[in-house]
Amino acid sequence: MLDFQTAINALHQHLPVADYLQRPAEQIALHSAMGRVLAKDLRADRDLPPFPRSMMDGFAIRSADFESQRDFMVIGTALAGQEHDLQIGAGEAVRIMTGAAVPAGADSVIKIEETSAFISGRSGSVAPQTTPGNVRFNTDSVNPGQNISPRGEEAHKGDVLAASGTTIDVSVLTLAAATGQTQLAVRALPNVSIIVTGDELVAVEDTPGPHQIRNSNGPMLSALLEELGVQARTFMVADRPDAIRSLLDRVLDEADFVLLTGGVSAGDTDFVPGLLAEAGVQSIFHKVRMRPGKPIWAGARKQTMVFGLPGPPFSCRITFKLFVEPAVRRCMGIVEASMRSVPMQTARSKKHDLIEFFRARVVYSDEGAPSLFNIHAPAGAHSIERLQVISHRGSSDVTATLQSTGIGVHPANQPELRPGDAVLFLPW
Ligand code: AMP
Ligand code: MG
Repeated sequence: MLDFQTAINALHQHLPVADYLQRPAEQIALHSAMGRVLAKDLRADRDLPPFPRSMMDGFAIRSADFESQRDFMVIGTALAGQEHDLQIGAGEAVRIMTGAAVPAGADSVIKIEETSAFISGRSGSVAPQTTPGNVRFNTDSVNPGQNISPRGEEAHKGDVLAASGTTIDVSVLTLAAATGQTQLAVRALPNVSIIVTGDELVAVEDTPGPHQIRNSNGPMLSALLEELGVQARTFMVADRPDAIRSLLDRVLDEADFVLLTGGVSAGDTDFVPGLLAEAGVQSIFHKVRMRPGKPIWAGARKQTMVFGLPGPPFSCRITFKLFVEPAVRRCMGIVEASMRSVPMQTARSKKHDLIEFFRARVVYSDEGAPSLFNIHAPAGAHSIERLQVISHRGSSDVTATLQSTGIGVHPANQPELRPGDAVLFLPW
């Protein structure tokens, strides 16, 4: 039986990551691109900003003139979005708004707050439509370039703004919008099928008999995949070898990932490992030195990755989070380290020498404070977090999981965790 780390490494060696990179990209609309991975570099379609842009409401002038004078002649107004051919000469100023193009000749903008008198303004405000008049500045110095974002300051036309392989988050999406990409080339998503097995199961919409339970793993797994942006197909089947066999025949050729739940441990009706071997799926491992989730099965047939996940809902969920999700993400081109270290709130002990994954909740010292953005709290107060252990009644307990915000990791050969001990935590 492999230990947890060896199993993870073995799995990742078998992932057909290179194959995914060869696949044709998909074109999708900007508004549905969140979470997808760029298949082409995102480039600037023109200089950013495309013209020297005022960063303030105020007046554009030549900074050299400021050495000898404070009163300037206002020759016009530059509004944002307005095309103008204003040109500044000696002693002249142009009233300018944030986002407007700085007139030719000007090299600095003095903000409106540094103006003591402006003839055409109403009291307390400045009319945008000004008649030529004088403006007086009450500041002592003006630097060349001040309050102006020069053309191309952020990027030049053709520059790579986000490289191929970048996951599209809100920042990338914003850039794509700013550069006029209504369609984006993204990597194709893996095709995933879920096969839920178990004689005891009925569909969510059906009424269970006295010894039956509802299939919650199916909806759980498709929801977990949906969080990755993947729409899976789900099939439900009884513990009947012929029925499982024909479903495997149906999905193995076209799916990139096949996830089975149930039927992988040592019960009389646990047919999944045998049927997978029969279908030509090469086992990578069966059983891992971990708790819960020990019966997990993983294998591959050509480019198709196959997982047999244990039936108890918590086991199913954590084996998905620890094995399936990182594998799917890597094939999608998303790599990220997602475990972090959090100190234990209380002690925790175990009597076996397997790595154990437990339901945990990160609690904060200021939990229950009236505001989430309590910026007046003393420095460091927000960073005081502790890992609370959630009590449960076994790996089939679906209600305890509700209290958790993720999985805590109790290392294999450490019987006792003491309060304050740093442990790894994987958020849901
Ligand atoms: P198995 O892995 O097939 O031995 O199943 C172990 C336990 O997991 C069963 O006793 C069920 O209570 C539970 N279980 C299996 N499949 C599901 C499912 N699809 N939804 C909810 N619970 C399940
Ligand atoms: Mg079963």
